[in-house]
Amino acid sequence: MKIERVEVIPYSIPYTHPLQFASGKVTHADHVLVRVHTDDGVVGTADAPPRPYTYGETQESISTIITKTFAPQVTGLDVFDRERIHAVLRRTIHNQVAKGALDIAVWDAIGKRLGAPVHKLLGGYTDRLRVSHMLGFRPAHELLDEALRFGETYGISTFKLKVGRRPLALDIEACHVLREGLGDGVEIYLDANRGWTANEALEVLRRTEGLGLTLLEEPCDAKEALSRRRLVDRSPIPVVGDESVPTAGDVSRELLSGGCNAICIKTARSGFTEATEILGLCTGLGVDVTMGNQIDTQVGSLATVTFGAAHEATSRRAGELSNFLDMADDLLAEPLLITDGTIRVRDVPGVGAEIDEDKLATYRLS
Ligand SMILES: [Mg+2]
Repeated sequence: MKIERVEVIPYSIPYTHPLQFASGKVTHADHVLVRVHTDDGVVGTADAPPRPYTYGETQESISTIITKTFAPQVTGLDVFDRERIHAVLRRTIHNQVAKGALDIAVWDAIGKRLGAPVHKLLGGYTDRLRVSHMLGFRPAHELLDEALRFGETYGISTFKLKVGRRPLALDIEACHVLREGLGDGVEIYLDANRGWTANEALEVLRRTEGLGLTLLEEPCDAKEALSRRRLVDRSPIPVVGDESVPTAGDVSRELLSGGCNAICIKTARSGFTEATEILGLCTGLGVDVTMGNQIDTQVGSLATVTFGAAHEATSRRAGELSNFLDMADDLLAEPLLITDGTIRVRDVPGVGAEIDEDKLATYRLS
């Protein structure tokens, strides 16, 4: 089953509630839908969410690198020969989101061709993933209101608080208000998106001691190697690498150099193939993993659920899966539902991201 062509469709869907955090703000989902067409009529689909302020990839760059560089080289290859496809993609460094979407679209095509759900092909560990909800920069009482509302409406009991603000007291207050208002049964962890220095992060850890926070993600720039290592050594909770570890090689470097001791896996930037390599490194070295969100659409979130539910280690913790609730619409024909705080995989061939063609026609840019 050979790749006949690769289609890129840039589209834009507005957010009803723009998400603000230390490294940026998002008002529209300016994404690219990637479709791999095969010579026997199977079409694999994936979503590519550019994050220019973090990785430098844009809607335009993703469309261009796929159309001009990757598509000509993978056209004619068999979708089952994934290692040959990746040998092509590996020649180009960076462009992780473009590569990730191509990889997921290939897996989707494989699943459809075999008549098998991709979550089964990847591992088939469980059929759902618990949902963690992300709380952006807002006054503490508004964050608490949102967390309580999401707990009541969706059954969510895990919250990631976006921090990294100055003065530090803003975030420290939010931690205390959330813990007091949510009680001990709710998991709270932090993501600073490199907003602090290592010493500021240590101060926040001191002033939130006893609150039972579970993880501290990307507290400072991982390039500040020595201070970051000092922070990791002294932190009572795992320090999670996220934007410092987009590739398996980055994961190796950061874990072995002491820059972090837990890893955030994002299928949007790793696809399923490199996410599998990253997961193997993490389980082999004995460090925790989380399934992160690249402010994904429902199409992207379904890919995260597909990978996360397929493996034991990735399904231990709640995955970040609720950002799509802030979008005005989505391309997925059958909406993702959060029930009892979980999202289920789809037991259909492929990943299960059937696209609503009318919606695509409405939101596509070309
Ligand atoms: Mg993060």
